[in-house]
Amino acid sequence: MLSHEAQANNNLKVIFIPLSSKSHMMPLVDMARLFSMHGVDTTIVATADNAEIFQKSIDRDFSHGQSIKTHVLEFPTEQVKLPVGNETNTDTPRNLTPKIHEDFVIVQKQIENYLLGLGELEVDCIVSDLCYHGTAEAATKLGIRRIVFTPASVISRCAELWFEQHTAHTEVESDSNKFTIVGFPHKLEMTRSQLPCWMRKPTMFGRIMKVLNDSSRRSYGAVFNSFHSLEGAYEEHYKNAFGTKCWSLGPVSSWVNQDVSDKAERGHKKVEEEEDEDGDLFKWLNSKKENSVIYVCFGSVNKLSTSQLIEIAHALEASSHDFIWVVRKNNDKEGEDEGFMEEFEKRVKESNKGYLIWGWAPQLLILENKAIGAIVTHCGWSTATESINIGLPMVTWPLFADQFFNEKMLVDVLKIGVSVGAKEWRNYDEFGSEVVKRNEIEKAIRLVMENGKEAEEMRLRAKSLSDDAKKAILVGGSSHANLTLLIEELKSLKLQRLNANKPN
Ligand code: UDP
Repeated sequence: MLSHEAQANNNLKVIFIPLSSKSHMMPLVDMARLFSMHGVDTTIVATADNAEIFQKSIDRDFSHGQSIKTHVLEFPTEQVKLPVGNETNTDTPRNLTPKIHEDFVIVQKQIENYLLGLGELEVDCIVSDLCYHGTAEAATKLGIRRIVFTPASVISRCAELWFEQHTAHTEVESDSNKFTIVGFPHKLEMTRSQLPCWMRKPTMFGRIMKVLNDSSRRSYGAVFNSFHSLEGAYEEHYKNAFGTKCWSLGPVSSWVNQDVSDKAERGHKKVEEEEDEDGDLFKWLNSKKENSVIYVCFGSVNKLSTSQLIEIAHALEASSHDFIWVVRKNNDKEGEDEGFMEEFEKRVKESNKGYLIWGWAPQLLILENKAIGAIVTHCGWSTATESINIGLPMVTWPLFADQFFNEKMLVDVLKIGVSVGAKEWRNYDEFGSEVVKRNEIEKAIRLVMENGKEAEEMRLRAKSLSDDAKKAILVGGSSHANLTLLIEELKSLKLQRLNANKPN
């Protein structure tokens, strides 16, 4: 049954447009479900292949009385470059990644055509991924507002503009010299090698980012998977820097994925045999002592070079802690390891020390298991917020996208993480040249997992932030209040629009 508040919100129609990439799609689908939980009439636009990833949750929400549906976008198979079923870059072979960009243009056009074909009463607001910049113009033509979504942290979006306007990073002598980001709420030091390539020198991607940032500035505001105690200072900074509104509505995954099925299936089209695999995994995990296992995962898209996998394997074996490691299959030529990983898996299985997941892990269920004591993470923002929600300290190992900025937040500002000392930013589909050595990885793991004073204090801070995360989504909490205000604001904008369009 919908609450009275939810019933009153029912007339507001919001369309959500996630990007065809799991890490962008999952938190925006969570947000769409959040709006519908609060009574907003919600439509998610996706291609059939992408819709399959989240449709079961939408069907469950619908069966609970929520007004939520998916609009399946026609994927013009005769025009697109990728084989059908490869629309998300998680599963797309590396040699096909350039095609994702070509297909993106086609899909963006389909989205715009769909939006522009809608009638006045069919949509009141568009919440679309940062990458679909064309939706800003479509919203203007429809006389409605576009709100921009990015799965990134607020701090990293603030940094995006900072590097457009400042030159401190170009003035240091080398890529490894530190410079300071001035004017931020905290004093942050970085090196040039940790910056995304488009911030270091002009690139084609930099020109694209400029287009996306300009379209953010032309949007009504931005929604983030964050919360006030986590990034409040940067919310204010964002509003000033972009000159738009901004609402933190997180952590979204714990807010909407309260059902075990939602948690187990999030981000993955499960096939039947995998149910058994998950059964084995949780049998193993449940046999372990509280806080005794470290969870190692580098997100939904990353692949690591074979030499890096070998260093991680040695570090995990040498550390005295049990572990779960989510390993992506390395299908490239560089992936030849002469049976190393197979041997390693066999050994750690026999000794009952480790559990390898080859592919997709039910991360939300793993993180909340009592046996997990900490996480080794690439600092992807969704994983960061999911771990913060549970109160896990982290070993931080940023690789690409906004991850080096997120590491600054986790290690330097919040002091809930220990860095492995990664120095080199690379693209998500590249291995990069840096190989973090086994002793560095092992040292960081020991520091977060063992009982030293530093680890103890880190755990207390992580626990306190977890309490804040949980309060943020309750009535009276900051994210709950932001969502309520945003819905009210959109309802009043709708009324204004309809009144203005009324014939005299
Ligand atoms: N995830 C998962 N299973 C996996 C890998 C990732 O459920 O095996 C989820 C994880 O819970 C998170 C998202 O995928 O919600 C990854 O997003 P993040 O921003 O952390 O990293 P990215 O994928 O963007 O690198």
